[in-house]
Amino acid sequence: MKLQDSIIKIKGIGEKTAVPFAKVGIHTVEDLIQYYPRAYETYGEPVELSEIEDGKKYAVQGYILSVSAVKRYAKYQVFTVQIQVGQDVMQGTWFNMPFLRNHFQRGAQYIFRGIVYLKGNQYRMEQPEHYTLGDYDRLLHVMQPKYPLTAGLTAKMVAKAVRQVLDGGEICVEEYLPEDMRGYYGLLPEWQAIRQVHFPVNEEEMRTARNRLVFDEFLLFILGIRRLKESQGELPNEAKMVEVAETERLIEALPYKLTGAQKKVWKEIAGDMAGDHVMSRLVQGDVGSGKTILAVLALVMAGCNGYQGALMVPTEVLAKQHFQSVSELLDEYEIPLKAVLLTGSMTAKEKRLAGEEIACGTAQIIIGTHALIQENVDYRRLGLVVTDEQHRFGVRQREMLAGKGLHPHVLVMSATPIPRTLAIIVYGDLDISVVDELPAHRLPIKNCVVDESYRSSAYRFMEKEMAMGHQVYIICPMVEESDEMELENVTDYTKKLQKILPGHQIACLHGKMKPKEKNEIMERFADGEIQILVSTTVIEVGINVPNATVMMVENAERFGLAQLHQLRGRVGRGKAQSYCIFMSGSKGKETKKRLEVLNKSNDGFYIASEDLKLRGPGDLFGIRQSGILEFKLGDVFQDSKVLKQASEAAGKMLGADPELELPEHRMLAERLEQYLKKGGENLNL
Ligand code: ADP
Ligand code: MG
Repeated sequence: MKLQDSIIKIKGIGEKTAVPFAKVGIHTVEDLIQYYPRAYETYGEPVELSEIEDGKKYAVQGYILSVSAVKRYAKYQVFTVQIQVGQDVMQGTWFNMPFLRNHFQRGAQYIFRGIVYLKGNQYRMEQPEHYTLGDYDRLLHVMQPKYPLTAGLTAKMVAKAVRQVLDGGEICVEEYLPEDMRGYYGLLPEWQAIRQVHFPVNEEEMRTARNRLVFDEFLLFILGIRRLKESQGELPNEAKMVEVAETERLIEALPYKLTGAQKKVWKEIAGDMAGDHVMSRLVQGDVGSGKTILAVLALVMAGCNGYQGALMVPTEVLAKQHFQSVSELLDEYEIPLKAVLLTGSMTAKEKRLAGEEIACGTAQIIIGTHALIQENVDYRRLGLVVTDEQHRFGVRQREMLAGKGLHPHVLVMSATPIPRTLAIIVYGDLDISVVDELPAHRLPIKNCVVDESYRSSAYRFMEKEMAMGHQVYIICPMVEESDEMELENVTDYTKKLQKILPGHQIACLHGKMKPKEKNEIMERFADGEIQILVSTTVIEVGINVPNATVMMVENAERFGLAQLHQLRGRVGRGKAQSYCIFMSGSKGKETKKRLEVLNKSNDGFYIASEDLKLRGPGDLFGIRQSGILEFKLGDVFQDSKVLKQASEAAGKMLGADPELELPEHRMLAERLEQYLKKGGENLNL
């Protein structure tokens, strides 16, 4: 068996069982072993009922006192069991498992495991797992992997398949990192790390394994970037431009004054495009810092110099929004340029017309989605390529777009609050501009952190805002079918809400919808037709609806703070006061403290680093801090130490052997080739 083989070669997986695997992107053996656990389950010692807090998961040891008959309620078949635990009694409830009823004999002793609900002094466990004492003893302290799943795919299936591969002995992966590098940074052999990350015996093992794998992700990424930059080199400026009067006129005419930071960054951009070398610049700025206008200015400068400029964004809605606002600007300020829109959902005829305008150069500013890089799109004189919200594009896509011109200038916009020191490591010596100032006179968003008892007041508050003509976002955590924890599923939520707030237009949006449906909903929300949008985090990227003034986040405790900060950037975009309500499903003090950080600060980087501190480094899985550079395991914030090590290692190695030709680097060079071929995760630059 080889890593590239289909998983069908694994014992126990056939054509049919391969289907749910494919749904989560596992096709090859390599995909499988790199499908890392999302978290681990540890089986803790059974506890006394007196130690229990409401709503948390525990193991409890007890005797069966009595078993009820199976009752039917609508869709459910339910039976309950009274369980004697020490001096107290706990009730266990099982849904739709009538066959278990006769299995439970009075007097039998088990360990029951599940979430315990405490009302007054009544203890209740729903759908507990049950184990004999002997079985439980064997599970105790072992870490069981939890995988991201989908319908038809269970954690057991994944774990079993992974074990087959690791224990089958058919695959032997040679270590590719040089021995001295491994020694110096204390890294496990790769193969061992893969085994340990799936099946760690304890937390220490999990950490060392993860450490090695994260190091690899970062190392390949950094080597990849350096390699790419080398091939691009310091190219001469073939699209040399001069500063034009139109941009100055536009700046003067805008209904607002550019902030100092915007002016500074605009100077840097214009200077690059007029300079001796081709521009390769990353513009970072928090949400709402006003990056769009900088892109527009660059596009106008290119257009007025006789070049085409393209703006590529990750979603259709965003493309349309940008297209509309750019067209209006050009029109209103009589700038003699034409903008054209190109997106995947346009009809063939519309696409053809747009294509013609692009090819013959009647359109100078081209705005769109991935459609911009399709093979059949020919540009006339592409001199500038701007990508917005860069983390959604891989290097391949960016390169393909750049490849449409000779050596067009490249401008990348990002809202990710990545600190400069890290950015330099990640992006090498790429030029970075920071828009580190928010427009003045913007009313800061009013935030509050509340628990569920506040929900009805929150709805009343929304009604008031909607009566003033404003709109509302409600964000729910992602729907994961397998998740045991009760998540408010967006569709159910929407139905419920329609009953609570009748007479309002409420729609829902989630990741499992088709792109076309998503677009339609987002557009109707942008047009004000929909008043409340219930959504998962799919709305995170760049949508601009200044009329939306309220955002409520359900189960806010389940999000990373940096992500919540990004989310709330969707409100506070207009003149009216905006509000963000973080609804926490947990009453815990720590949760409250963590969420309060959002109350105190509006600085994305500060928020991310505070979150890390409060969370503690123990919480390595589950929540992504940065949401950028989506590595399988690594996170540039959480793992900034490893990132620095990998950067140092890459530097040393390339210093001694720039082409990676030495025998001890041969395998690493091969691995790098493979990595780049696959598109290198998300190699952005
Ligand atoms: P982002 O950096 O998140 O892309 P946008 O470019 O979308 O931010 O800008 C957010 C809003 O702020 C827009 O409505 C834009 O017109 C407005 N804006 C941009 N610059 C300024 C400024 N200097 N003063 C006031 N408003 C501004
Ligand atoms: Mg933006």
